[in-house]
Amino acid sequence: MSTEEYLKTIISAQGPLTFAQYMSIALSDSRHGYYTTKQPFGKKGDFITAPEISQMFGELIGIWAASLWQASGTKEEVAIVELGPGRGTLMHDFLSGTKNVLGFHNKISIHLIEISPKLKDIQKEALRPFSDKIKVQWHNTFDEIPAKPAIIVANEFFDALPVHQFINTENGWRENMVGINAEGDLDIILSPSETTSCALIPKKRRNSPIGAIIETCPAAIAITRDIAEHINKNGGAALFIDYGYDEPIIESTLQSVKNHKFHDLLKAPGSADITAHVDFLLLKQVAEECMATAYGPIEQGSFLHAVGINIRADMLKNKADEKHKKDIDSALERLTDSSQMGELFKCIALTHPQWPMPEGFKNV
Ligand code: SAH
Repeated sequence: MSTEEYLKTIISAQGPLTFAQYMSIALSDSRHGYYTTKQPFGKKGDFITAPEISQMFGELIGIWAASLWQASGTKEEVAIVELGPGRGTLMHDFLSGTKNVLGFHNKISIHLIEISPKLKDIQKEALRPFSDKIKVQWHNTFDEIPAKPAIIVANEFFDALPVHQFINTENGWRENMVGINAEGDLDIILSPSETTSCALIPKKRRNSPIGAIIETCPAAIAITRDIAEHINKNGGAALFIDYGYDEPIIESTLQSVKNHKFHDLLKAPGSADITAHVDFLLLKQVAEECMATAYGPIEQGSFLHAVGINIRADMLKNKADEKHKKDIDSALERLTDSSQMGELFKCIALTHPQWPMPEGFKNV
């Protein structure tokens, strides 16, 4: 049964699904989900993420983490945690970029949080060069991380978590549901009355104008809370990088991508990526409510410049032939330029209140 048939069977039996339920099945269902059954990334896949564009991305995040570790002065072993590691490229480059940082590799263990068995195998292969020296473990959820200081990174993870979508109508707030239309196709159907999930709309945003669309991502809030509580109890820090916004917005940010092109959100679910932009201010607020210190949001371009991407690019270019030099320049531009990923992608950092301010967030 295709993912679409599976969804239609559920909807026929139980009625329309919230968009969050639809997104959760389409992306992560163990038999029908896009991440769990496909290999989404890279030139041959459906989309390319920052670590797949250039080794510089993972290397700089590694150096960012290692310098924070040094500045924190912690003597304990530190868990390096990555949420949604994809093909394992970021963590591979993180480890190769930090192999000369004195003592760092002896003091870390790697914890990867991944739901896709296929991607876990690819990650295992990517980290093989390091796995006889550094312990690598996989987990299904963040709460399996051992109680020790942790430095946590997440790139394009939060945008893959299921969101609810609400719209303010003349008759009050309604939820966008996924149902089946008269032609027998999946279609967006407005809930006839307020759903219980409408309680997720932040109080101060309930009086948005008619037509306003508000998205909420309860999973992102729950994971941020778990991370902030872990950091606060055990020490550590986190870096989240994603498509996102840093002011309240009232329009849909949902998008689907297949084969490097925009795709209909409701067509052939399970065969395409679906994402929503991340509400960084809200995640920052959640972390602060858990008493973690939060920095940002800042743009990815500013962050990468502040942690030295130009210096790293020059070092790589010194050893490169002409063709490779051009590739490095174009990767640099793609990652940092405001017309490409530099502005749309943003970063926040969370730390234990007694940990130092992380690199990249100073003077911005
Ligand atoms: N960070 C990678 C991949 C981003 S795609 C990169 O930048 O290239 C999203 C990743 O999150 C995939 O690895 C996907 O399988 C994983 N993922 C999605 N939902 C998840 C969940 N609920 N728990 C754990 N991993 C999840």
